[in-house]
Amino acid sequence: MKSILHIMTLSICMAATAAGASAQTKADTFQYNDERFADLQMLRYKVEGFESLTLRQKTFIYYLQEAALTGRDILFDQNGRYNLRIRHALERIYTDWQGDRQSSDFQALSVYLKRVWFSNGIHHHYGCEKFVPGFSESFFREAARSVGVAPTLIDEICPVMFDPSLMQKRVNLAEGQDLVLTSASNYYRGVTQQEAEDFYQAMKDPSDPHPVMFGMNSRLVKDADGVVREHRWTTTGLYHQALSRIVNLLRLARPYAEDADQQAVIDKLVEFYTTGDLHTFDEYTILWAANTAPLIDFVNGFTECYGDPLGLKCSWESIVNFKDLDATRRTETLSQNAQWFEDHSPVDPRFRKEQVKGISAKVITAAILGGDLYPSTAIGINLPNSDWVRREHGSKSVTIGNLTDAYNKAARGSGFLEEFAIDPSTVALVRQYGDLTDDLHTDLHECLGHGSGRLLPGVDPDSLKAYGSTIEEARADLFGLYYVADPKLVELGLTPDADAYKAQYYTYMMNGLMTQLVRIQPGNNIEEAHMRNRALIAHWCYEQGRADNVVEMVRRDGKTYVQINDYAALRRLFGLLLAEIQRVKSEGDYLGAQTLVEQYGVRVDPELHREVLDRYQRLDLAPYKGFINPVYTAVRDQQGHITDVTVRYDEAYDAQMLRYSRDYETLPLVND
Ligand code: ZN
Repeated sequence: MKSILHIMTLSICMAATAAGASAQTKADTFQYNDERFADLQMLRYKVEGFESLTLRQKTFIYYLQEAALTGRDILFDQNGRYNLRIRHALERIYTDWQGDRQSSDFQALSVYLKRVWFSNGIHHHYGCEKFVPGFSESFFREAARSVGVAPTLIDEICPVMFDPSLMQKRVNLAEGQDLVLTSASNYYRGVTQQEAEDFYQAMKDPSDPHPVMFGMNSRLVKDADGVVREHRWTTTGLYHQALSRIVNLLRLARPYAEDADQQAVIDKLVEFYTTGDLHTFDEYTILWAANTAPLIDFVNGFTECYGDPLGLKCSWESIVNFKDLDATRRTETLSQNAQWFEDHSPVDPRFRKEQVKGISAKVITAAILGGDLYPSTAIGINLPNSDWVRREHGSKSVTIGNLTDAYNKAARGSGFLEEFAIDPSTVALVRQYGDLTDDLHTDLHECLGHGSGRLLPGVDPDSLKAYGSTIEEARADLFGLYYVADPKLVELGLTPDADAYKAQYYTYMMNGLMTQLVRIQPGNNIEEAHMRNRALIAHWCYEQGRADNVVEMVRRDGKTYVQINDYAALRRLFGLLLAEIQRVKSEGDYLGAQTLVEQYGVRVDPELHREVLDRYQRLDLAPYKGFINPVYTAVRDQQGHITDVTVRYDEAYDAQMLRYSRDYETLPLVND
């Protein structure tokens, strides 16, 4: 499972951050924002700490990142039968065409190609709809012919690109249609939804407590003899050219692995790529989940099933990463002091845990993104996906610190904070402390908040029903809000001074009262649990503090702003609400939950909503973002041994994509 960034606000449990409002803590000349086209903003991320790794670690990462880039063609082909052919033709025109490159046709073709690269195919990475070319078919045909693209290939791909009725959606989930036949992704060939479902139904054994993930590593095909068969993705089957190269690179990486257990992980993965055996895959994920000691870790393989309308087939992806030791130290400090936080929390002592154990959430630094994690990526990953493996062997849950950081830093120049924060001193406050206290709030939420408190004996954990997740998120958020202002954090060295928390308080209230509304369509209520929780907390505190004017909504030059008049009083209100929410949870008070959520967390003031949407729209921000990878180079001595690995960040988006198409061209144009 992955957690992704929606529009501007982090969508996951972890992130209670105000939309784009986080800020800079130190001077930094790194260029996080890169080019923008269509609805996309390209960003860069910094691999902080790479230089101080040992040569052995750098070498390990070097081979793993090569393996990560080598699966790119697999994903293009998984996303659509003609994607590799279309990419090939477009790239030939992009690099070799001799005509007027300023012409509107060529400019439109450039944008189209950049979108195809971004989506690893001709359908939108998020909405799944097919791109509409902004150039004419006759221009394309003529340009492709002039650069030597084969006429049969041109005839083959033109209808796919230009006929809007063909291959409309990559993944179609519309009820009542044949989802397999109407989805353009390349996981099924010649089979109906019914045939595919029957095929896999027949494999299932309901009494097996350890079922493998049937279908995850193959295309299901009705062969010429009319029989439906799996064409497996292995080093001797479909995609063998790419998978053999990946296996070679994994073998080169193996001697540099950080411990013997990690070598065993690599061996199992190689065995799986070679045999395609799904029990081997489960064994591999069990070894991988247990291998938590090394600094460096990686995902490489068929992983997520969002691209298959039936949710069976896994797209290929890879990430190579290493632990962010500073951030992980922060979460460990909180975990070690978990009992102190529990004992001092403002809830009724009956609802506290007598013995509490903090969770050490791991924060990682991404070194490379590949396959279905590139360029559009996750900011949190929780694997493996098999239910029984998770239940019996656990899973790894990580947040990718340097990507979250890059999103935050890139948003700095967006004008968002300047537009919505009330005055320059508040902007300065958020700039100084925003990133730090935001991370800290997330850590408190994750490491302590969810684990704190207890139900009274006999209370059904599901008694809050549909309001359960909103109340649970509010509880964890409030735990974080209450403690981010605590002098204990200064004492533990987690916050620099007694004022830092104000940045988090301001952005939280601004987000909950106003700016998160940018994600809601006009006329709609708030539905999503995390958004309801933020609205609930912000509106409850606003209402309860009204008599004392703790938080104000101020009108200035026709615009609405949040003003916090008394930060200490706001902390007391967070404490009061935490106590009440914990009571609701501990007692299983369904009516109490319903009243709080419905009264404070659901409704939207239409006038304020319109104003916020207008102000947001004028900022003209791209709704989707993705990352350009860093470039790693192995420095070798005369014998060919690696003596150093360097990293740089200056490759242009199109140059990177063209280089990947050239150096990691692992599959033929047709894979039938
Ligand atoms: Zn949460």
